[in-house]
Amino acid sequence: KYHEQLVELKGNIRVLCRVKPVLKEDQHEEGQTVVVTTDPNNESALTVLSKGKAKNFELDKVFHPQATQEEVSRVKPLITSCIDGYHVCIFAYGQTGSGKTYTMEGSVENPGINQRALKHLFNEIEERKDMWTYTVSVSSVEIYNEVLRDLLSKDGEKLDIKINPDGTGQLHVPGLRVMEVKSFQHIKKILAIARKNRITFGTQMNQHSSRSHALLTVTVLGTDLASGAKTTGKLNLVDLAGSERVWKSGAEGERLKEAQNINRSLLALGDVIQALKAHQTHIPFRNSRLTYLLQDSLGKGNKTAMVVQVSSLESNVGETLCSLKFAQRVC
Ligand code: ADP
Ligand code: MG
Repeated sequence: KYHEQLVELKGNIRVLCRVKPVLKEDQHEEGQTVVVTTDPNNESALTVLSKGKAKNFELDKVFHPQATQEEVSRVKPLITSCIDGYHVCIFAYGQTGSGKTYTMEGSVENPGINQRALKHLFNEIEERKDMWTYTVSVSSVEIYNEVLRDLLSKDGEKLDIKINPDGTGQLHVPGLRVMEVKSFQHIKKILAIARKNRITFGTQMNQHSSRSHALLTVTVLGTDLASGAKTTGKLNLVDLAGSERVWKSGAEGERLKEAQNINRSLLALGDVIQALKAHQTHIPFRNSRLTYLLQDSLGKGNKTAMVVQVSSLESNVGETLCSLKFAQRVC
């Protein structure tokens, strides 16, 4: 059923929620109770117990804590769409530690959406090789404090977003490294470089990578061998910055500025998705680097999936409710 839902996903957004399992390292305090429950009979329902009251949420799909990486990564229809020429965005949203990077990147033994999606991409391209030929290229950037950096360049070059001088109104990022990739094995190596650079830049700036957005953009140019017809698909895989409200804990100076910037871009993303859902004529793409950069993938006729990650522990209930409210707003 979930598969079919994603096939039908057109000019639309699907909001999924993944509940993080309680890990040993999360149980440092005594009496940490589980306040988030899923319903085995209803795959779109979620209940949060807060201050003695049960709050119910309805999403497109809820993954219970034991859901596997394989189940969460069933995005094949989205990848097929991308090869067919759609622009696709897959986001992971949630507070730091809720499992965003686990869902997108995963671990060595248990890869997440990024690798599974790309594996499928190359498999499907191979299956179509008698009819179509494809060129796949990849770029990766990090947005930290509204500054864009190239994750495929060693020195983390700062980048700017410009309007293409060709008059089409298209955006481009001068100096961005775009690498052509021939196989899944090849792109896997590039993903590892981006991951390593994200960590290195993070420590250089004495900041944790949880406060930046990481974007991986895969462009798929197709040519029909018979007619010469062309398609341009795009797949954006986005590991968003932690959504926690840092300023509430008395942040000051740089940390406060950073928190405001993160909040601003996540809010801007919510505003854009909400405006698109409401078919508004003005979509406020320009309110953050993140939405500005993704505007050609978030508009009409494109496909978006948002995985909202939540913790099930009582100590995180405030952030869990905030994340679910965000999900509900764009749902
Ligand atoms: P975030 O990127 O949102 O800050 P992480 O993905 O880094 O969070 O997750 C925090 C920790 O929890 C990591 O050690 C990660 O491996 C682990 N983790 C998250 N989700 C799961 C899961 N579904 N199963 C097992 N471990 C998980
Ligand atoms: Mg992370």
